[in-house]
Amino acid sequence: VVMCFMLRLVKFLSFSPRLQHSQAEQPVHSTRPETSSAKNLMDIGTRRIFNEDHDMFRQSVRRFFQEEVVPHHKEWEKAGQVSREVWEKAGEQGLLGVMVPEDHGGIGGDLFSAAITWEEQMYSNCSGPGFSLHSDIVMPYIINYGSKKQIDRFIPQMTAGKCISAIAMTEPGAGSDLQGVRTYAKRDGSDWILNGNKVFITNGWMSDLVVVVTVTNREAKTAAHGISLFLVENGMKGFQKGRKLEKIGLKAQDTAELFFEDVRLPADALLGEPNKGFYYLMNELPQERLIIATMAVSSCEFMFEETRKYVLQRKAFGKTVAHLQTVQHKLAELKTEICVGRAFVDNCLQLHAEKRLDSSTASMAKFWASDLQNRVATQCLQLHGGWGYMWEYPIAKAFVDSRVQPIYGGSNEIMKELIARTIVSQK
Ligand SMILES: Cc1cc2nc3c(=O)[nH]c(=O)nc-3n(C[C@H](O)[C@H](O)[C@H](O)COP(=O)(O)OP(=O)(O)OC[C@H]3O[C@@H](n4cnc5c(N)ncnc54)[C@H](O)[C@@H]3O)c2cc1C
Repeated sequence: VVMCFMLRLVKFLSFSPRLQHSQAEQPVHSTRPETSSAKNLMDIGTRRIFNEDHDMFRQSVRRFFQEEVVPHHKEWEKAGQVSREVWEKAGEQGLLGVMVPEDHGGIGGDLFSAAITWEEQMYSNCSGPGFSLHSDIVMPYIINYGSKKQIDRFIPQMTAGKCISAIAMTEPGAGSDLQGVRTYAKRDGSDWILNGNKVFITNGWMSDLVVVVTVTNREAKTAAHGISLFLVENGMKGFQKGRKLEKIGLKAQDTAELFFEDVRLPADALLGEPNKGFYYLMNELPQERLIIATMAVSSCEFMFEETRKYVLQRKAFGKTVAHLQTVQHKLAELKTEICVGRAFVDNCLQLHAEKRLDSSTASMAKFWASDLQNRVATQCLQLHGGWGYMWEYPIAKAFVDSRVQPIYGGSNEIMKELIARTIVSQK
């Protein structure tokens, strides 16, 4: 019965005109409270960037995470990966590739609907499923630069959760400096022969399809002019997955090493044009940074609410901890900082919906929100005392999961480089 309801709801929402791409403009006079005046920072029905249809969608996404993800997460943390089943369930309920047009198997939703899926995952405090990377980092490469044949072949499988995807940029010797990539594809007739290896790849162990950042012209005038993207499929001869890497956080996420040894790729494995890969990456990275920023602020909201609950019931010196003025001031500081972060990130979401989010602004959001997440994590854990250090308390998981946010998606030091360039540039 629940499933039928969800499917009907998703179908309804997919036809709801107010969730479509063209609806970036929101009513000027909104009566929706902003986060700062909401009772709970995760309340549904808040923030003027959303409307009532988004609220209904959020309810269904929240239910999905509570029913299909939360009960299994501990077991997935032990396994170092989630189940294939949860991917397929997310696909059935229209939660993968929310922004993908309906004729490609998506629900044709707008950016705000996609943001709801990122936010709700953080509100569930379950970092295992790599849905956002699959839906809103990998799929856009295929939709924006892929051929009709590639789109028809992969996107419906991806939105159904039957084809899990990853993107492989980082190598043992090249992380921040993507121009140092050594993975190389050499032409052989109309085919390409791929050699190299990648590391730290999210969804890597479970991946059926990987976008691989590869050098195709070693003589290009700069390394950036000689990079291409390839679609490499699980099972191709010479493509091996290494171990699932043991991380200090994101325990249920399957981060892996990938190895390519003389993998023969047909011509139609090339994504877009040869040697344009770096340009494609530069176009798509702002959205990746916005996703990280949105998830970071959402995690802050989750951690704040967990901490508020905790200090309201924890007793010390005959009163609740929340009774202490220093604790109250700490909560006031945290809430203020989180609401300031939320306002900036919502503004970035609005700009991106209008296709006006530039790389420097997206970098500011990623750098500031992920640093905020770490400050909030440290302070919220502190307010839990020793219990905050125990794995059974949600704040412990949120704390370790937050640590990677300033590192991946372009480290925060690199974000500052990108921001600084626009400050000192004379052009
Ligand atoms: C859990 C996890 C998941 C990941 N998922 C993916 C994925 O799905 N796909 C993928 O391709 N990669 C992924 N990564 C890789 C991630 O993007 C890189 O780790 C990150 O870009 C940093 O690269 P690096 O680790 O090689 O660090 P390095 O580049 O070696 O940097 C080391 C330190 O030097 C600093 N530094 C480097 N250059 C500069 C500079 N110019 N100025 C100032 N400081 C600098 C860095 O900020 C960092 O503090 C993931 C990483 C982790 C940990």
